[in-house]
Amino acid sequence: MSLRIVFLGTGGSVPTANRGLPAVLIQHKDEQILFDCGEGVQRQIVRAGGGFHKKMKIFVTHMHGDHVLGLPGLMQTMALLDRKRKLDVYGPPGIREFLECIKRTVQFALTFQVEIHEIDNEGTACEESDYCIEAAWSNHVVPSLAYAFIEKPRPGRFFPEKAEHLGIPEGPQWSRLQRGQEIKLPSGRTVKPREVTGPLRKGRRIVYTGDTRPFKSLGKLAKGANVLIHDATFEDELLERASEDGHSTPSQAARDARRANVENLVLTHISARYSDTSLLLRQARKIFRKTLVAEDFTEMEIPLAKD
Ligand SMILES: [Zn+2]
Ligand SMILES: [Zn+2]
Repeated sequence: MSLRIVFLGTGGSVPTANRGLPAVLIQHKDEQILFDCGEGVQRQIVRAGGGFHKKMKIFVTHMHGDHVLGLPGLMQTMALLDRKRKLDVYGPPGIREFLECIKRTVQFALTFQVEIHEIDNEGTACEESDYCIEAAWSNHVVPSLAYAFIEKPRPGRFFPEKAEHLGIPEGPQWSRLQRGQEIKLPSGRTVKPREVTGPLRKGRRIVYTGDTRPFKSLGKLAKGANVLIHDATFEDELLERASEDGHSTPSQAARDARRANVENLVLTHISARYSDTSLLLRQARKIFRKTLVAEDFTEMEIPLAKD
């Protein structure tokens, strides 16, 4: 049930000696979920110890070059390494034409299928048995999506003494109840999981805004998230510039984090002008204490909720 975030690229618009272009990897069990795909991402994946053959989904926020130009290179690397598994790519309108154009013009011999999912409407972009990805329109200078990884709630804590009290012997019936299924006793009585377990345990939530000014629907998307990863391209004093370019400042990101009552805020898409990010961190922490500035290869393990 491990869930880990690895920041592969934390710069904005242009790479620097220390920051690659935007890419955030979520490692969920055996799957890799990538938010944005900046240039050179495949090398960052190698350095982070990720893989090219795993089940993988890529979610692109918008069609600016710094967020999509890593796709051709990543696909090329995967093909050279003989990937066989399908690759799913999600993104706003334009993603299909971009990928089809690349496939037509670059001399690829793709060894795997690329399934393109163009997202026209906000809502559930993809649903798996134990998590889903929700998309919401953000507020950038071109159509742009924010994404939330939302783990489904897990069955509550199991109380063996309650099961014994109801006369259910230890064994397969206990496992079924633990998995959230009803069972039938020889007497004909049905036992519901909630008779022998605690309340459902909250799933984990990670939200990535992509490039954006503050936007209203983030409050709902990020509500109670374990981690909110937010654009903080420019310092507070450059608010006007941030607004013109469709970005946020640390204070704006921090206010969004506070409003959504998240556990942790991580600032990313850091402008190349900041080799020292302590100013950005100070500005955000005045409003929201549990803030970090992401560096390339920063890792965060997201623990399971206990009850
Ligand atoms: Zn960008
Ligand atoms: Zn952009």
